Amino acid sequence: MLVAEVLIFAPIDRALFYAVPDALHGMVQVGSLANIIVGQSKKIGLVIALDEKNPATLSYPLKPILSTVYDIPIADATLIKLYFWIAKYYLCDLFSVIDTAIPSVIRKNIPFKLISCLQFASQNEPAIDKKKFPKQYEALQFLRRNPSIAKSEFLEKFSRNILEALLRKNIIYETFQRQERIAYGALDLLNKCSENITLTPEQTQIVASVTRSLASKIFNVHLLHGVTGSGKTEVYIELIRHVLNRGGSVLYLLPELALTAQVVEKLRSRFEGLPVLVWHSGLSDGERRDAWQGALNAASTVAVGARSAVFLPLNNLQLIIVDEEHESAYKQGEHPRYHGRDVAIYRAKLYDAVCLLGSATPSIESYFNTRFKNYKLEMLPRRIDRCQLPLVHVVDMRYEKNVFSRLLIKKMEERLEKKEQIILFLNRRGYAPSVLCKCCDFIATCPHCSIPLTYHKTKNLLICHFCSYREALHSKCPKCGTIEILYNGIGTQRVEQMVNELFPQARAARIDSDIMGKKHEFIYFLSDFRRKKIDILLGTQMIAKGLDFPNVTLVGLLNADGSLNQQDFRANERTFQLLVQVAGRAGRGEISGEVVIQTHIPGNEIIFLSKNADYAEFSVSELKMREMFGYPPYRHIINVNLSGENLELLKLFSENFSKKLVDFLINDSVEIRGPMVSPLEKLQNRYRYSILIFVRSVSKIVEKLQFFRSQLTIPSGIYLAFDVDALDFL
Ligand code: ADP
Ligand code: ZN
Repeated sequence: MLVAEVLIFAPIDRALFYAVPDALHGMVQVGSLANIIVGQSKKIGLVIALDEKNPATLSYPLKPILSTVYDIPIADATLIKLYFWIAKYYLCDLFSVIDTAIPSVIRKNIPFKLISCLQFASQNEPAIDKKKFPKQYEALQFLRRNPSIAKSEFLEKFSRNILEALLRKNIIYETFQRQERIAYGALDLLNKCSENITLTPEQTQIVASVTRSLASKIFNVHLLHGVTGSGKTEVYIELIRHVLNRGGSVLYLLPELALTAQVVEKLRSRFEGLPVLVWHSGLSDGERRDAWQGALNAASTVAVGARSAVFLPLNNLQLIIVDEEHESAYKQGEHPRYHGRDVAIYRAKLYDAVCLLGSATPSIESYFNTRFKNYKLEMLPRRIDRCQLPLVHVVDMRYEKNVFSRLLIKKMEERLEKKEQIILFLNRRGYAPSVLCKCCDFIATCPHCSIPLTYHKTKNLLICHFCSYREALHSKCPKCGTIEILYNGIGTQRVEQMVNELFPQARAARIDSDIMGKKHEFIYFLSDFRRKKIDILLGTQMIAKGLDFPNVTLVGLLNADGSLNQQDFRANERTFQLLVQVAGRAGRGEISGEVVIQTHIPGNEIIFLSKNADYAEFSVSELKMREMFGYPPYRHIINVNLSGENLELLKLFSENFSKKLVDFLINDSVEIRGPMVSPLEKLQNRYRYSILIFVRSVSKIVEKLQFFRSQLTIPSGIYLAFDVDALDFL
């Protein structure tokens, strides 16, 4: 009897066994989605293994698989290995991995969208009297030009009567076609003139180096460190062409939705006729369903997407590109807390493929791996066409009275005068990061989290950026009753208002996650910016990296200090990356660019190094510091997050947990710190503690930790989560 091992999409962490009925032999394969009965209810499961078993050896009768959801498997056996690896490495349950990797829209098998089309029957050479039926004649001419057209489109131009007349005369007939829901079907984000590019000798050399790895069919990682505007994207495109010619597929990962659109459009214009697949969480169910199907069907294709695209089931996967590999957006903040870049590398390993990481500011981890592991370092140290990196001015804000320094205003005036474009960057959305009373010590704080509420002027509400709690703005201080309410600090909304006041003639637009509500709206802003319908683009980290707008000649960083003040060993690295990336948006075209960095600590070493985009110097001093304290990449950190509503219970449990863990791991070379109160003490009514485990090799310890957790009784009301290779220590 053929027996299938099936994982269901529910929090049960072991496979269930089902019999494969004879009628389904061949249909049910490893990676098939199967309809099964669990208990009394119908469920969908993923087949992870098939085995011939003697029925006599089974201790109980097996239920049969009822049917398969699709005719073909939706994942291959190697992808299933990847799911298991993630569950093990990131100490999370397998269920949460398959739940993320195979989203519910794929499990549901939503039907394809059919649309009604009109087909021109050219063989019935029609005779329509032009004078007698002028409208019908016109419609005929139109159909000659458009022999196959959606009915709805025809009806936008001609009446239903005309349609019926033509149908009666057998000049057209009606069909149904499957509508491809193609993400970003019609966009205009590019300068179309940038085609037919000849690679520079430096670019060609890197393409050759990666091509050699591809030819060897052995797993390899290359890190492309190229300054902003050095032509990394063109290197990727050439490699994609190479892989497509060899009949392979490419997965191209990006950290940010805004970048996806730009890259997709570029690829579609370069590879005409090739359906570039797009995958990220901002797409409609239909678009995702079609992209998944497209991946399964194509022997060779390109898929572009954000973090979760790393799970797309591509055939003949040969190359994975991880652009802006240093970005923390690749790490998922909730279960399963995987790092998209690291999963991409492991996937490349499983598939004997090549992984190409790219960045102008590589993560210290990846850079370290080029020195002490087998990653190959490729460099593009100069911008294309001898274009200079922008000139950076550092303004000491201790001597300025306003949010906009005098220098920034002057530079903005100059650039607007010349009809050039400006990007302003501020890492705070909303209007004011906090609202306080001038007379007493009152600060409006979230009742569920230990942080101040941010004032949003557009909605006239105070909003918690962690749990979305909202309340009306107080007209009086709730504590002392005065009406002296102060908006403290600046957010993007307030900057937008200031820009409008300072430069009333300029057209400004704001991009931050507050305007992300409407689907793709930000893409239209970017497209308008490209077409110079917007002079000043202002936003948060969403516009900090990757975007290529040649007419931008001035970039202003309103507050460079925000990320330096964080109590996190990565604060320097984040600041360096942010400053260099933001500055990199300036002067990418023919006119050279300038950057104004506003800071209260102009003497700071990191600000100095970013000013010159001096990665070499930065990485040396950063690695020294990391080694001295045993921080990553010298050791890994596993952050154990403990939370609960009852503070006493949480504290007791955390201390106990820590003690037991120390005893349990006594013979392993680990260091355990904590428990300590998390910087964000309370989140959504739960108090928070954390314990840090420092360890040289994660894979050597995860099984032990898994065992440790399984032996533990966790009191109700206490929550425990492991965050392996944590990036966020809030
Ligand atoms: P990066 O990804 O390193 O920031 P891009 O690949 O976006 O850089 O390149 C920056 C600009 O230079 C783009 O407008 C691109 O079209 C152009 N470019 C890249 N390579 C070449 C080349 N070999 N010849 C001419 N222009 C190029
Ligand atoms: Zn809150």
